[in-house]
This record gives sequence, C-alpha cells and structure tokens, in this order.
Amino acid sequence: MTQTLKTKVLIVGAGTGGYVAGIRCGQLGLETVLVDGGDGLGGTCLNVGCIPSKAIIHAAGKYETVAKAAADGGTLGITAAAPAVDLAKTVAWKDGIVRKLNAGVAALLKKAKVKVINGWAEFADAKTCTVKTADGDIRISAEHVILATGSEPVELPFLPFGGDVISSTEALSLDAVPGKLVVVGGGYIGLELGIAYRKLGAEVAIVEMADRILPLYDKALTDPVHRWLERHGVQLFLGARAGGFGDGALSVTTKDGEPLSIPADKVLVTVGRKPRTRGWGLENMGLAMDGPFVKIDDRCATSMKNVWAVGDLTGEPMLAHKGSAQGEMVAEIIAGKPRRFDPVSIAAVCFTEPEIVSAGLGPADVEGRDDVITAMFPFAAIGRALAIEAGEDGGFVRVIASKTDHRILGLQAVGQHVSELSNSFAQMLEMGALLEDVAGTIHVHPTLGEAFHEASLRALGHAIHI
Ligand code: FAD
Repeated sequence: MTQTLKTKVLIVGAGTGGYVAGIRCGQLGLETVLVDGGDGLGGTCLNVGCIPSKAIIHAAGKYETVAKAAADGGTLGITAAAPAVDLAKTVAWKDGIVRKLNAGVAALLKKAKVKVINGWAEFADAKTCTVKTADGDIRISAEHVILATGSEPVELPFLPFGGDVISSTEALSLDAVPGKLVVVGGGYIGLELGIAYRKLGAEVAIVEMADRILPLYDKALTDPVHRWLERHGVQLFLGARAGGFGDGALSVTTKDGEPLSIPADKVLVTVGRKPRTRGWGLENMGLAMDGPFVKIDDRCATSMKNVWAVGDLTGEPMLAHKGSAQGEMVAEIIAGKPRRFDPVSIAAVCFTEPEIVSAGLGPADVEGRDDVITAMFPFAAIGRALAIEAGEDGGFVRVIASKTDHRILGLQAVGQHVSELSNSFAQMLEMGALLEDVAGTIHVHPTLGEAFHEASLRALGHAIHI
C-alpha cells in the first residue's frame, strides 16, 4: 500500500546542496522532508568526491614522504626503510571517515527535525513524487520542492565503465595500487587522483584532448603541476584522443595522428561530470532547461513557482561550496527572507601537486585591459615555504587589481598547501578589499600567507622581500 505524506518543503538529494538546505529549513522551523536514494547522506562530495579523494591524496602524500626518505638517504636527516602500502587498509580508513561524516550529517538533520527518507524519488508532476523505500512506496506532495539531484560522471561510449575501465568512484575504493594506470581526461579530478596514484607507486599516463593539463586554468598556474608530473615520470599525451580498451591496453591517437597503444591495468575516465537529470521524472515537471542544466534565476527559482534547484544540477561551477551556499539561501527565501545569489567569486581549488587556487578574475578575463595591475610573488622568497619544502616548485601568489582605485579583482596561487589561502582570497574579494587593505594587514610570520601580503605590496610598487 502507498503511504501519503504532505509537507511544507520536500528536498530531493542529500548532497552538499540538499542536506544544507534541509538543516537550514529545519533551523527556520519549516516542516521538511529530505529524500535521498544514494549510498549515504552527504551525496557525491562526502561519499565519493571531495572528502574521500582528499583522504586518499593525504595518504598518498604520507607514503611519498616515507618513500622519498628511503630513496634519497634522508635530505632532512631522516632515513627510513622502503615503505609498503596496503591500499585495502587505506580505503578502509577512508571509509571510516566517510561513515563518521554520514553519521554527523544524520545527527544534524535529526537535530533540525528534518524527516529523512531513504529511497529514489520519481516525480509525477512538479510538486508530487513517489519514493520507493524498503518499506513500500511513499507518495509525497509539498508546497515547496528543492531539487538537488547533483551530477554523475560522463561516460565515453567507446570506453564504457565496467571491469578495468573505472570512474572516480571506483578509483577511490581500489583494493590494490594498479601497476599501470592510464587517466583519460586531464581536469582536476583526473589529475588529483593520477598524482595520488603516482605517489603511491603506480606508473601513470594521462591522455588529454586539449594541448595542456587543467585547461580551465591559465598556463602560469598549471606549469608547476606540469613540471611535477614530468619530474615524477608521469607520461603526458596532450592533444591526444583516447579510443577503446582491450587486451590490457588503451588505444590512443596522438596529437600527430599516430595510433598508439598504452598498456594499462586500470583506465580511469575523468572527462567531466553531467547534471543528474534522468531517471526521476524531471520531464514530468515542466521545468525550463538551460542546456543540460535546470534553469534557475538568481534566487535558485526554476520556471515553476515554488520549485527551486541547487548544486550541480544548476550549472557550473560544479563545486560543493556553491551548492551549500545556494541551499542555505533557498531555505531562507522559503522562510520569507529577501536573498539573492550574487557572490563576487566562488573560489576553486585543485588539490594537485602543487595545489592551485583561483578566485575572481584571471589573466584571460583582463587580457588587453590597461586599467589593471597584475603582481606576482614567488614562494621561493618566503621563509615558511622553504622551511616546509614548499618553495622550490615554482609556486607564487598573483594579485589582479584595478589601477584606478586598487580594488582587488582576482587572486590566484599555485604551491603546496595554497588551498588554505582560498578563503582569505574569497573574503577579500567579497568585502571589496583594496590592495592597501592587504598591504596594511600585519601578516603572521612565518606563513605562506605572507606571499599574499608581498604580492599586494608589489602591486603597489614596494614589495619588501624581492
Ligand atoms: P550530489 O553531491 O551529487 O548529491 C546528489 C544526491 O542526490 C546523491 O546522493 C544522489 O544519490 C541523490 N539523488 C539524485 N536523484 C535522486 C532521486 N531521484 N531520488 C533520491 N535521491 C536522489 N567539489 C568541491 O567543491 N571540492 C572538491 O575538492 C571536490 N572534489 C571532488 C572530487 C571528486 C572525485 C568528485 C567526483 C567531485 C568532487 N567535487 C568537489 C564536486 C562535488 O562533489 C559536487 O560539486 C557536489 O557533491 C555537488 O553537490 P550536490 O548537492 O549538487 O549533488
């Protein structure tokens, strides 16, 4: 028998967009039902995305440190015996973190009095869905619907997922380090995982159709990552097209049109992600689309009254923190608060080696403009960077500001640990800071953040340490 349920707010998808919307709705006293049919609360980010990838990257970094000490006799005066990795144990450790966070999200939703239903929702019309649960079907109708169904990996028709052709999801749960890993797609997900597996000892090759890695970032930012890959023997096939996989090898057509066969134990396909728009009755809801995404305005309202959409389903950037910010905002709008989604910037980070962070305008956005100042400051001149072996990979902080009023327009950095500068960059942009605001802030010594201070001083024409 089908149960029926009426609620003020129905949220579909418990990723970073949906669950944050749920908690905020609950805090605001809105009767809320959250439906998720995935592997656990927290969606892609928590279960098979941000968190597990950073855990594996962290473990790979630890392994590499010991392996380096064993190999080079201890540059830091530390020697070690050759290490070994039991990847199944590493994955079990990572799974423990994911379970802890799943439980944390469940507790927060419970505290906010959000009713969570585990099952797949299918919409019959814009405000009514049926959820198939282990205890039978539940028909839910709601005054407000928040769609947060997220995204899924893009599959190449000639390289379907299965067996040794894997997506990022399987790459985060392998039971052994593959001897030879070929990564198809040189975006941030492929590079983060490819670099982690190289650190763990795999022979890694990267096949990318564009003529450079991380094509969404400017070359100055990606050069240090490129150099790391070359120094660590990662084979790069740029401007190359992947073909099929068979007999333990991936067919590739090189930049010059030459056919090539690259031996691979696993082929990791990371050619992008697409919004999850199929399999849940979106076609029955009558919503306007914006290309492959659900169309929204600056309140995350869809074309249907009181149907809202947040997160990866709504477009780029497909980042966890964007979805959370949208989810929180929509809850407040439903509760009657006047809100708009109008960030100055949504900072993005690549957790590669070294890391990259970018916020606001980049060089391509200001190309040809003579009303901006651009200044860079290298980590090679920052004491803290040298003291933590983060000063020799060509990293830097770059500031782009208006020449007339010195307002900061964009901030980028490449270097080890620069992800930690991303929020400071976002805050400065959001607050409309001037170069003088950063220059006039006493930065703690010794820290990597001093490079941001020095870059701002340099833009004003008086850097101290260069
Ligand atoms: P999702 O997290 O995709 O959640 C959607 C949820 O909805 C899922 O649980 C799904 O099962 C459920 N669902 C969908 N349809 C239905 C239905 N009909 N019924 C019931 N449930 C349904 N972003 C960052 O900001 N930083 C990072 O470092 C980062 N690293 C990443 C690393 C990897 C390997 C990957 C794959 C992604 C990474 N991302 C990162 C991207 C980030 O994970 C996504 O931007 C984020 O998860 C999107 O959140 P969301 O709420 O839109 O959707």
